[in-house]
Amino acid sequence: MNLTEPQAGSDLAAVRTKAVPEGDHYRLYGQKIFITWGNHDMTDNVIYLFLARTPDAPEGVRGISLFVVPKFLLNADGSSG
Ligand SMILES: Cc1cc2nc3c(=O)[nH]c(=O)nc-3n(C[C@H](O)[C@H](O)[C@H](O)COP(=O)(O)OP(=O)(O)OC[C@H]3O[C@@H](n4cnc5c(N)ncnc54)[C@H](O)[C@@H]3O)c2cc1C
Repeated sequence: MNLTEPQAGSDLAAVRTKAVPEGDHYRLYGQKIFITWGNHDMTDNVIYLFLARTPDAPEGVRGISLFVVPKFLLNADGSSG
């Protein structure tokens, strides 16, 4: 899971990554560090579980949401885009 940021280790309330609505999905802005097996080439695609805040989220840990982020977006036929 992609949780840790340079300014947010033990202090989850300090997570700053933003998730901004864009059409039928969200675009994420931010930086994550120290992610074990966060990226590799053992599979064709990777799913990242990402902690981020939507624009109107409350302060602190209550405002954190979990997003599923593919490394590669899929084409309509299911192949990697
Ligand atoms: C091998 C490894 C693998 C990791 N893999 C992942 C991963 O897959 N995904 C991911 O998201 N992150 C990962 N991390 C990051 C990990 O989650 C963070 O290292 C952890 O959350 C601690 O954050 P920090 O290192 O910034 O330490 P800090 O938050 O800076 O803490 C430093 C020290 O201060 C203490 N401390 C902090 N706040 C307080 C407080 N309020 N009161 C008293 N003591 C306090 C802590 O207990 C610690 O001893 C990994 C780290 C390591 C080392």
